[in-house]
Amino acid sequence: MNLSLQDKIKSVIRDVPNFPKEGILFKDITPILLDPILVDELVSAMVVQFKDDAIDAVAGIESRGYLFGILLAQKLQVPFIMIRKEGKLPAKTIKESYDLEYGSATIEVHEDAIVPGSNVLIHDDLLATGGTAIAAGKLIQQKAKVAGFSFVIALEFLNGIQHLNEMSLNTKSLITY
Ligand code: AMP
Repeated sequence: MNLSLQDKIKSVIRDVPNFPKEGILFKDITPILLDPILVDELVSAMVVQFKDDAIDAVAGIESRGYLFGILLAQKLQVPFIMIRKEGKLPAKTIKESYDLEYGSATIEVHEDAIVPGSNVLIHDDLLATGGTAIAAGKLIQQKAKVAGFSFVIALEFLNGIQHLNEMSLNTKSLITY
């Protein structure tokens, strides 16, 4: 049987019920990393999604956004920018705060990592409500432009894409649930 790339990815993603808290069905992507051929196929498929978009850099969201984000940037031959949680980056940063279900969070990026006016693609492993990606987009927009959003997985029933559409119509995921 010839499985599509989507089927192969879905077959290795592990569902972990009630993690990190009751009621969440966690989509664990770590088994993908155990298969280097699948990793290569996955990243190549992401490259196809964005190859015509004049991407100047890929910004990955800590920490699972780094796994494929760096590989995507490498294959697109553009810089990779680390978006981190507050307090982890050593040099001068710009910050963006956003609301969580309880309380708020702040993400930041090294100020000199973003070329002013450049076209930055934002990558994370999974799109849920879109809150994290929107915050990342606002952070990038302090100095540059959001070229689009890239995810391995989109949880469509949470409607995150509708929020992202307000910032960019160029949102792509490899698989959806
Ligand atoms: P959101 O801001 O609601 O779009 O949540 C996206 C962020 O939370 C991403 O960094 C995901 O890695 C993580 N996340 C949210 N829901 C899940 C889930 N069901 N399984 C795995 N990761 C998730």
